[in-house]
Amino acid sequence: MYRIRMFAVRHARKFERIYTWIERVMVLLDPVFARIGYNRVERPIALVEKGVKTLLFDCKMCGQCVLSSTGMSCPMNCPKQLRNGPCGGVRDGGFCEVKPEMKCVWVLAWDGASRMKDGAEKIREVMPPVEHSLQGSSSWLRVSREKAEAIRESREASRKTLAKAFPEARANEPAAAPLSVEPSKATQAEAEK
Ligand code: SF4
Repeated sequence: MYRIRMFAVRHARKFERIYTWIERVMVLLDPVFARIGYNRVERPIALVEKGVKTLLFDCKMCGQCVLSSTGMSCPMNCPKQLRNGPCGGVRDGGFCEVKPEMKCVWVLAWDGASRMKDGAEKIREVMPPVEHSLQGSSSWLRVSREKAEAIRESREASRKTLAKAFPEARANEPAAAPLSVEPSKATQAEAEK
């Protein structure tokens, strides 16, 4: 497991791409999940997530995944569970103070983050403390649900703005041309009449 963790950090950029792809698919599946019921899909998706991430990252299913900000090195593997950088006890060579046989997860996190797009900025973001009530739940599902919700809200806001700007068009023919510019030939023909 430890070796696979190290592999994941070395290939953080590839995993970042895979994560982006998974997130897109999950967001696209939002209508399906909503129809089935998010409560119903939570358990099977959490099981798949647990299987995949335990194998790759020694995931502890904290429910608030921060791998994309920590170079694909899971901070829950820190014996002190520090989520905002290393303690002061990192040994020579970057080894853990509590478990000297393993590299400090934050040394790995900086390594992985330096390989990722915007990793150097993301790793500086301050993480909130672990919310224990989310333990065991699916981060994938929660994040994709929040993103889908944000997309819906932003579409709704644009729709409302347009509807306010063109009240007459909305009243007469909501789906048709009034919202686009009149073609110039048609305008000229009208003027020559
Ligand atoms: S941050 Fe949480 S969800 Fe992400 S890999 Fe670590 S324990 Fe699992």
